[in-house]
Parts: sequence; structure tokens; C-alpha cells
Amino acid sequence: MGAAAETNVIHTGGCRCGAVRFEAKADPVHVSYCHCGDCRRASGAPVSAFVGFRADEVIFRERVPASRFGVSPITRTFCGICGSPVSYADERLEGQIFLMLGAMDDPQNYPPSVHGYVSEQLPFSILMTVSRAGKRPPCRDPKEQDNEIHTLLAERPSGNGCHP
Ligand SMILES: [Zn+2]
Ligand SMILES: [Zn+2]
Repeated sequence: MGAAAETNVIHTGGCRCGAVRFEAKADPVHVSYCHCGDCRRASGAPVSAFVGFRADEVIFRERVPASRFGVSPITRTFCGICGSPVSYADERLEGQIFLMLGAMDDPQNYPPSVHGYVSEQLPFSILMTVSRAGKRPPCRDPKEQDNEIHTLLAERPSGNGCHP
């Protein structure tokens, strides 16, 4: 990847702890919800949302290599430290990578335009049907989080033990 390409980053994101970061130098080709049972299990959420890019336009900058899980044709990556799901790829959709919408730094910029696998959708409406809870304090202090990642990285054994 040349220096010219690297100055052209327009989309960024990463896992919860920051060990896995990614950037894209072109706009997404696809933004969608997925209601399939596999994504549900992988994310733990009733519905997932993905921002799809051409794989050759996404660069990963990992402080620790992302862990992989999947059974062909699907491969998913997640952070081996904080556990956040990061991406998914499907051999049948060659040349594309789908990043978790919630992992994007500015998730509000990616309104999904498609619902996938609606045949597997849960039998209740998920979005905007429940009265919104009031403000709550942030889950974590970002500074504390950064200290935590430094500690975790320091404790991590050397080598690439997180890949199965
Ligand atoms: Zn992480
Ligand atoms: Zn899915």
C-alpha cells in the first residue's frame, strides 16, 4: 500500500478497546441489517448491521492480530482482547468485507438501506418500539479503558497465540 493511498482515508473504526483498528479509503458499497441466526449468535444482539466495503479498500492496523472464527464460507473476526466482533466475510461475496456498523467511529453516517435474511427475523419489532430510557452515565471512562488495554497488551504472551 503506497503512501498516497494512506492519505486518502475516509472511514475509520475499530474494536471496543482499540487493539484492532481499520480504515477505508473508499465509500462503502453496501450498508445493511442482517437478521440471520448466525449473526445473532456471533453478536449477541437481536439484529446486526454491517457496512460493506471492497476488501482491497480496507486496511487493518492491529496492535494485536484480530482473532478469527468461522466455518466456510463465512469468516468472522473479533478482537482477541476485548471480544468485540469486528468483521465478516463470505467466500460467495468475493472481494468484499463487512465491518460491524457499531465498530465504525461515526456509526451515524451509515444508515442501512437493506434488511437481509428477513426470513430469520425475530417475531417482534426491535427498533423504536420501546419508550427510550433516560440518560445514563457512560459505561466506561475512555482514559481508564486506555490504561486497561496497555495492561492487557503487556500481560499478553508473545507470539500469535490468538489464531486457532
Ligand atoms: Zn479490542
Ligand atoms: Zn447474518
